[in-house]
Amino acid sequence: MIEIKNISKIYNENTVPVQALNEVNLRIEKGEFTAIVGPSGCGKTTLLNILGGLDTPSSGDILIDNANLHQRSSSEMIAFRRDHIGFVFQDYSLMPVLTARENVEFIMELQGKSKVERNSRSTELLTAVGIADKAEKLPNQLSGGQQQRVAVARALASKPKLILADEPTANLDSKSTTDLLDIMRQLNEKENITFVIATHDQRVMDRAKRVIRFDDGKIIEDEVSEKNQASS
Ligand code: ADP
Ligand code: ADP
Repeated sequence: MIEIKNISKIYNENTVPVQALNEVNLRIEKGEFTAIVGPSGCGKTTLLNILGGLDTPSSGDILIDNANLHQRSSSEMIAFRRDHIGFVFQDYSLMPVLTARENVEFIMELQGKSKVERNSRSTELLTAVGIADKAEKLPNQLSGGQQQRVAVARALASKPKLILADEPTANLDSKSTTDLLDIMRQLNEKENITFVIATHDQRVMDRAKRVIRFDDGKIIEDEVSEKNQASS
């Protein structure tokens, strides 16, 4: 599904170069639930940003379903991201003046979906993440765990087959982390959505089907967890 071929990323190439990724090669299959781990500064965020088309590699190619991700024009890239990739961030990144429901429906509005369709889909998604009763609340009326559930519902709005999450549990307590992992694993199992999660969190690694360890811009370990393959 995703082929990462010889990806390197050097920031500040013309001033003080920083090599964030060094010839990374990786295949991610449909339906994986993969944790990208490693010390701060090892390149996790850079990899996720390049995978999601938020940043461009210095060299190398990314093929998603055999199409070269970074050969798109910027307007094609925006449309591709919107329609095919869901993002979840450490700080939730919800729009503060919009309710939970409006945050979830925002992308569907950009896609020109009717109000009836948006409403039924946002209800379905907020129900799936267990906070249908909070649909009309603003983000600052919700706990961190609830906000992150809204963020997951929002990431699902365009029915992406791939969700990229950058430290999604970093600001969550233990119970919220377990609940969020249950929700993400369920989406992975039932809807075959691929998850790639950059994380420091041992609890995420313990639930991942595959753990890829980075150091200094390179993959140093790539391990499949047998016990996490089936539904847990
Ligand atoms: P991680 O997510 O694993 O903490 P990052 O991908 O954020 O790692 O960073 C990898 C390296 O690239 C680090 O040395 C970081 O300081 C550097 N870096 C990240 N983003 C930028 C940027 N926009 N400009 C310059 N250097 C950056
Ligand atoms: P994390 O460790 O969670 O990946 P970081 O603190 O490394 O977060 O980076 C946060 C943001 O700052 C990222 O968007 C990254 O691209 C940017 N960044 C990281 N290092 C640098 C740097 N040296 N110069 C400029 N931007 C950077």
